[in-house]
Amino acid sequence: MATTEGLRVGVGYDIHRLAEGRALVLGGVTIPSDKGLVGHSDGDVVLHAITDALLGACSLPDIGDLFPDTDPMYKGIESKILMQRAMEKVKAAGYRPRNIDCVVHAEKPKLTAFKKAMAESIASIVGIPVDTVNVKAKTNEGMGPVGSFDAIATTAVATVVKISQ
Ligand code: MG
Repeated sequence: MATTEGLRVGVGYDIHRLAEGRALVLGGVTIPSDKGLVGHSDGDVVLHAITDALLGACSLPDIGDLFPDTDPMYKGIESKILMQRAMEKVKAAGYRPRNIDCVVHAEKPKLTAFKKAMAESIASIVGIPVDTVNVKAKTNEGMGPVGSFDAIATTAVATVVKISQ
C-alpha cells in the first residue's frame, strides 16, 4: 500500500532573461529558438527550479547557496551537472525523490513537442522513472517579460521520501 508517511514537499521557482545568440536549453534539452536564456550557467530555468524544489523538500540550502553565480568555477557549466551535484546532497541527506511536476512559463517557442523529451531528460538526471516526472507549458497571454519573449520562468514542485535515519 502506498504511504504518505515521511513524504516531504518542496517548491522551486526561477526566471532568466532571453537574449539572441544563446542556445535555449530547457530541462536539459536544446530547443530551436530565436533567443536563449542568459545565465552564469546555461540558464536552464527548468532544471534550476526543479533542483530548488528537490533541495527545498529536504530542507537543504538552495541552488544559489550551493553554486554561487559569483564563483568562476560555475561559469558556463551545464545545469544538469549542478543538478547531479544537488542530487548527491539529497541522497547524502537520506532522501529519495518521489515525483516532480513543473510549469514552464514561455510565450514561445511552443514547447508541446518537447515536453516528453524534457521529462525523459529530467528523469534521467534525477534517477527516477519517467512516469514520475511531469512537464507542463503555459504562455503568459502576452503579459509581462515572459509574454514579451524577454524571459522564461519555471515553477516546480517535488516530493521526496526519507530512506534512512
Ligand atoms: Mg537560475
